[in-house]
Amino acid sequence: MTHDAPALAGRLSQLVQVPTVTPPDGGPLTPETAQVFSTFQALLREFYPTLFAVAEVATVGRAGLLLRFAGTGEGTGATALGTVLLMAHQDVVPAPTEGWEAAGWTHPPFDGIIADGEDGLTVYGRGTLDDKGALLVLLEAVEDLLVEGWRPHDDLYLSLGGDEESDGPSAVAAIAELERRVVKPVLVVDEGGAVTTGLVPGLTKQVAVVGVAEKGVVNLEVSVSADPRTPAHSSTPPRRSPTAALGRAIAALERHPHPAQLDDISVRMFAELAPYVPGPLSAVLGRADQLRPVLAQVFPYLGAEMAAMVRTTTAATMLTGSSAPNVLAAKATAIVNMRVATSSTLADAIRHVEKVVTRAVGSSLTVDVRVLEGHEPTPVSPFDERWDAILAAVAGSYPDALTVPYTMLGASDARHAARIAPAVYRFSPLYMSAAQRASVHGVDERVTADSLVRGVHFYRALLTAQA
Ligand SMILES: [Zn+2]
Repeated sequence: MTHDAPALAGRLSQLVQVPTVTPPDGGPLTPETAQVFSTFQALLREFYPTLFAVAEVATVGRAGLLLRFAGTGEGTGATALGTVLLMAHQDVVPAPTEGWEAAGWTHPPFDGIIADGEDGLTVYGRGTLDDKGALLVLLEAVEDLLVEGWRPHDDLYLSLGGDEESDGPSAVAAIAELERRVVKPVLVVDEGGAVTTGLVPGLTKQVAVVGVAEKGVVNLEVSVSADPRTPAHSSTPPRRSPTAALGRAIAALERHPHPAQLDDISVRMFAELAPYVPGPLSAVLGRADQLRPVLAQVFPYLGAEMAAMVRTTTAATMLTGSSAPNVLAAKATAIVNMRVATSSTLADAIRHVEKVVTRAVGSSLTVDVRVLEGHEPTPVSPFDERWDAILAAVAGSYPDALTVPYTMLGASDARHAARIAPAVYRFSPLYMSAAQRASVHGVDERVTADSLVRGVHFYRALLTAQA
């Protein structure tokens, strides 16, 4: 199988052309969606015949695939440490099939156009970075190795999710299946960070950011209600209405964010970046550990991402209230979506909201804070020989890049793996410029053919420990 850049770009282009738009969470797939995923999987089988011949293949959840390659007790690389689980997902977020130009796309999102971009040969389209590019380089590397006669030392599992973007059941089903088989992976790699530049002002060095933990998530329903006997006509409004009180509560949540704190992962990240950052910022980041309280206070002013790095965030999202222009709401509700810092807990996050909301609303109305769903932040993955294996594989595929850990601000399928595996690293071995990072879930999503070549190299290096 040829691994030159145009061949990889060509195969990715074909994968992009099968619009595996993520099915909504819950319920079985519609016949149309099932057909799209089966077309996609047929393409995978065509591209990677040896891989599908050697693997034990199980379908999990709605469109997920779980592949096992039996360990032989011989060989080097990551599986010499124990069972390894590598994850990627087949589904993508939606993109316009009509009106794509008006939406800002240069090429139709599902055409998989290959063209010369600012960084050389580039594949354009939905999923090129998230996550079909990563899926492609993973399967290419394994196919390639198997053809050469390589077999894993211990079991190797590949989990190819079918509904990651809608937080659907396939990743959960894959982990449940591994639990049923009493499989305990020593090492898991899934999407998350990438190889990038421009992470810190003035920093020109390429940096591979690897997620070693994920924040928790909780959705709260905050409601404010009035005594049901209160007249409901808007012509005679009371002094205090649930709608206005809810507004005050939301404003108070914005005014009283969670206390800011710089966690150990961020300290490690900044300390490792410091030598490469020009000017006085270098000295500041190099002393991140001693300067924790100061940096935690400064970061929230450096943009939404930096702010989210140092605290549990609170965002009011869906609002409901009155059903008609002239009816007062007896009850007004807001969904509050929180991302819980790794140094904190759901209970802590919920307590904070209850306290702030209750104080803002006052005693004449009833406040209720209900937990809809949530999960705790994940544990932090270790910095031991498994982290070293990631470092070595990055060094082999992106020799100019520095590898640093970070905490993922969003939630990914990998959090389910954290239940059965102590060492989960969230990283796609693809180069993403700042503009490309913005194209994930956005407009003009694209990946360079060069980074596909490097991505294949990353997984080869990880599985064989040879750069
Ligand atoms: Zn993804």
